[in-house]
Amino acid sequence: SRRGSLFFGPVSLEDREESSLSVTNYDRGNGIADGIEGTIGNTPLIQIRSLSEATGCIILAKAEFLNGAGGSPKDRVALNMIQVAEEQGLLSPGRGDTIYEGTVGSTGISLAVLARARGYKAHICMPDDMAVEKSDLLHHLGATIERVPVAPITDPGHFVNLARSRAREHTAAADTPSRGFFADQFESLANYSAHMKTTGPEIYAQTGGGQLDAFVAGAGTGGTIAGVAKHLKEERGLSALRVVLADPQGSGLYNKIRHGVMYSATEREGTRRRRQVDTMVEGIGINRVTENFEAGRGLVDDAVKVTDEQACRMARWLVERDGIFVGSSSAVNCVAAVVTALKMPPGSRVVTILCDSGTRHLSKFWKHIAAMGLEDETQEQDGDLLAVLG
Ligand code: PMP
Repeated sequence: SRRGSLFFGPVSLEDREESSLSVTNYDRGNGIADGIEGTIGNTPLIQIRSLSEATGCIILAKAEFLNGAGGSPKDRVALNMIQVAEEQGLLSPGRGDTIYEGTVGSTGISLAVLARARGYKAHICMPDDMAVEKSDLLHHLGATIERVPVAPITDPGHFVNLARSRAREHTAAADTPSRGFFADQFESLANYSAHMKTTGPEIYAQTGGGQLDAFVAGAGTGGTIAGVAKHLKEERGLSALRVVLADPQGSGLYNKIRHGVMYSATEREGTRRRRQVDTMVEGIGINRVTENFEAGRGLVDDAVKVTDEQACRMARWLVERDGIFVGSSSAVNCVAAVVTALKMPPGSRVVTILCDSGTRHLSKFWKHIAAMGLEDETQEQDGDLLAVLG
């Protein structure tokens, strides 16, 4: 309704008033977007019919891929980080400042768009194993891109550490009045607070005033799960709400939530040698506790581990039955939403997040799905949901 109503129709002002508790200039309710920033937030909540039928619950997914700047929930975060920095004088468009960030892609894309819209340059450091669509897009947006080999967070060459030092080097350069600003999505609390101020209130309004039984989301920085959980559980007092982490294979957060520690000593040694997180899934799963994940401490009730194969099968299921074409983290979220729903009484309402579109994952995730033979129509037609779960 948000998009359809831009020029033509009535908008749902009731929901909008509830959901505009923001520090930003998100869509003010007249249906006219104030620049590209005005297309951020107020995303629809889609009832996924096939998953609702198969589980006997109501599975609702927040269509974050419809955020209009960078096409992911990171639009909210990028806008909030920029606005907070502007308020603190750390960023100023007239000075020719550059925004630096370490990102697996989505945050970089949102920052690159908003940098253009607000008169900044963007410099993005990212691991070199991410889908090429993301760096191509950054290139066309005019961002400076550094793709670096996958390294542990203790390594100065890790993409986050590199972005931090590039920002410092920029500011220290004596021949320019401009500054480098390190956005720092992993540790900056402007990340989770964007979700606490916008995503959480929107979900509350869209579920008729908090009529939901579970919220399921993965964590890359932890901003989404912490911010939404904080709003719903603390600010709205929904203490019975089950908040469930959707964690891809190779990530340490599942153990952290279930057992209080990320890894045993032997696993720790193993992960040092392995890639950062051993999964094909992009954007969620991490082997350290960030400030943003920590902000949700005590608010996450459970975790569901999701394999790459389950994610691939779910992505294929969603496009086949519902025409919903998403990326890998959205598929992980939907698997965990189904696992959560199957443990709850029939009719329970489970809300999750569709993070980004499958178009951003054609060269990796979707190629893999095709290679698995999942796009063979005759093979999949008989499959039921339990086959997806494996
Ligand atoms: N999905 C995708 C595609 C992402 O890029 C990210 C963020 N890295 C997430 C999900 C996870 O969101 P968060 O950082 O809020 O935990």
